[in-house]
Amino acid sequence: MDVDIVCVGFGPATAGFLTTLSKQLVNADGTLAVESTVMPGMPPQVLCYERADDIGFGVSGVVTKARALRASFPEIKTAGIPMAAPVGEEKVLYLLDPHGASRRSLALHLADSLIRATKFALPFEQHALNLPWTPAFLQKHDGMILSMGQFMQWAGAQVQSTGTVQIWPGTPVAQALVEEKKVVGVRLLDQGVDKKGNPSDGFTPGMDVHAALTVIGDGPVGPIGRQLDEQFGLPEGKHLRDWAVGMKFVVDLPEDTPLKPGTVLHTFGYPEPEIFGFLYVHPDRVASLGIFVPSWFDSPTRTAYRYLQHWMLHPYLWRYLKGGKLRSWGAKTLGESGKHGEPHLTGDGYARIGEGSGTTNVLTGSGVDEAWATGTQLAEAVIELLKAKKPFTKQNLDETYVKRRRASWVEAEGRIAENSRDGFQKGVATGMIGMALAGLTNGKLSLGSAPVQPWKRIPTVEDYFTGKISRDEIAKLRDECKMKNASLHGALMDKAGWPAIPFDGQLLVSHQDALLMGGKVQAPHGYADHVVFLHPELCEKCGARICIEACSGQAITPGETGVPAFDREKCVHCGACLWNCSQANPENPERMNIAFRAGTGGLHSAEN
Ligand SMILES: Cc1cc2nc3c(=O)[nH]c(=O)nc-3n(C[C@H](O)[C@H](O)[C@H](O)COP(=O)(O)OP(=O)(O)OC[C@H]3O[C@@H](n4cnc5c(N)ncnc54)[C@H](O)[C@@H]3O)c2cc1C
Ligand code: SF4
Ligand code: SF4
Repeated sequence: MDVDIVCVGFGPATAGFLTTLSKQLVNADGTLAVESTVMPGMPPQVLCYERADDIGFGVSGVVTKARALRASFPEIKTAGIPMAAPVGEEKVLYLLDPHGASRRSLALHLADSLIRATKFALPFEQHALNLPWTPAFLQKHDGMILSMGQFMQWAGAQVQSTGTVQIWPGTPVAQALVEEKKVVGVRLLDQGVDKKGNPSDGFTPGMDVHAALTVIGDGPVGPIGRQLDEQFGLPEGKHLRDWAVGMKFVVDLPEDTPLKPGTVLHTFGYPEPEIFGFLYVHPDRVASLGIFVPSWFDSPTRTAYRYLQHWMLHPYLWRYLKGGKLRSWGAKTLGESGKHGEPHLTGDGYARIGEGSGTTNVLTGSGVDEAWATGTQLAEAVIELLKAKKPFTKQNLDETYVKRRRASWVEAEGRIAENSRDGFQKGVATGMIGMALAGLTNGKLSLGSAPVQPWKRIPTVEDYFTGKISRDEIAKLRDECKMKNASLHGALMDKAGWPAIPFDGQLLVSHQDALLMGGKVQAPHGYADHVVFLHPELCEKCGARICIEACSGQAITPGETGVPAFDREKCVHCGACLWNCSQANPENPERMNIAFRAGTGGLHSAEN
């Protein structure tokens, strides 16, 4: 099939692109503003393929200054968007450990003791210190709290109502079509294949869609962006080494909740010092809350689900959450390299937008607005080129799209943020000081060193738990978990002193129940496994097996052969396995031993 423009992924970046583009293809009087080259006499044919089964199922993001959104929708009102609220009270909280189970450095222990000793003079309650002020770079004043799923459905409806572009959910793009360094379109995923991708009943090869311009907005772990990184390389000095998995609950708060819509709480310090948390309140007693577990958290058992439960149970938060009910659950990777990971933004026939193009601001924790902004910048560039009848060459895209991007606030703020997180390579205290320095000096000062590949940071289970659990005990727990074909983290956390989770069947539910109740995960038949263990021999001798421990959906299990097993039916497509592997890929040490390919299914909730 031939079209004019094909887009990969319908996240905020592509939504920004299509919102701006769709309004400018046809004039107000119905005449063509620009013309299709594949269907002369018609407006340009623009298609967008989204992997997830519906619009808004594959996204995340909640609180935003909404600068770019307001530029696209000047009349936007939170009242018109489900679950949206204007930002109200903002707090940053340092959570102390009420159980003594977390792994805190000597410096943090001393800081905690000092805080507890002087708490009568501090804004301290329920084992939490409320920072006296929210640093300006973290404030979201005048912004919005959104459910990104609901917002994307709203934005998708606006885009489709123009009648000039089409969005196809449930349609993963398998690869970019590259001819002599030029991207000429995309190939969709094969259907009717077995787990390994071999043709079986009802085999239908993925269709080739040729386009003059391919817009890649497939997010932080998108396979098309990574294919181009592999084929064209990253620019000198750039790397993708910093990640976090964000895991989130959407919750009905108890009827008598004192929390007002618009409330924004940011936390750090607990359940482990490396884990950041958030709680945002939507209208009608609904809250979005969750944690981020970063790649620089040197634990071989970094299971976001268990940590999320301990975070909710922190006394400061639990007094608000007790009696609440799970509505929706999800997990997604956040690309935390920011400008460190900026790929080639353009090439002949393609342009990259959004988080996969390094837009996320790692200092302010903002990604939605930045992704949307780069989409609109590309749309303006595309209209300019279409009107001038110029082809989508790298040079033309650089002179229009990249020029706009470099001159925008996204670039200016991205530069301030660029090195702000490097301190975390040396520990949490250095990381926090580094962020504050970068934030307060507009990026002129920072601390730390360049990030290393995530696989280099993963210690063995035995080393990580030295002093807490003996090697003999670990060996015993390993044997027990192997017999049950279960992951190890639960047993290790119990042994390390974490209290048992008091399941209540409403909010504190098992991981599997969260998948069923909150994620409603589904995987259609007839598609290949999208998670592949590239070198089974490396898995067989792998000690940490962190892919199993970190899997957000318990879709990766120990398996019977020494190589982990993957269950597509439980995969939420968070992409965490891509960077949670302790072995380098022998062909490319910047990558690891897992391939995360294009795939169907996943979460069925548009509330995340
Ligand atoms: C838990 C969590 C909380 C967050 N909170 C905030 C917040 O409060 N504020 C904020 O500003 N930002 C937040 N972010 C970051 C924000 O969500 C991202 O920066 C933003 O969504 C990036 O937009 P994007 O369009 O570039 O990519 P994505 O949102 O990742 O969208 C990419 C889309 O491409 C699709 N796709 C991927 N591969 C394919 C394929 N092969 N074929 C077809 N489609 C494909 C995906 O399904 C997805 O819909 C949060 C992120 C997480 C994970
Ligand atoms: S995928 Fe990576 S972490 Fe998992 S078992 Fe194989 S080598 Fe180990
Ligand atoms: S297997 Fe699926 S759910 Fe598990 S980490 Fe990978 S992408 Fe996430």
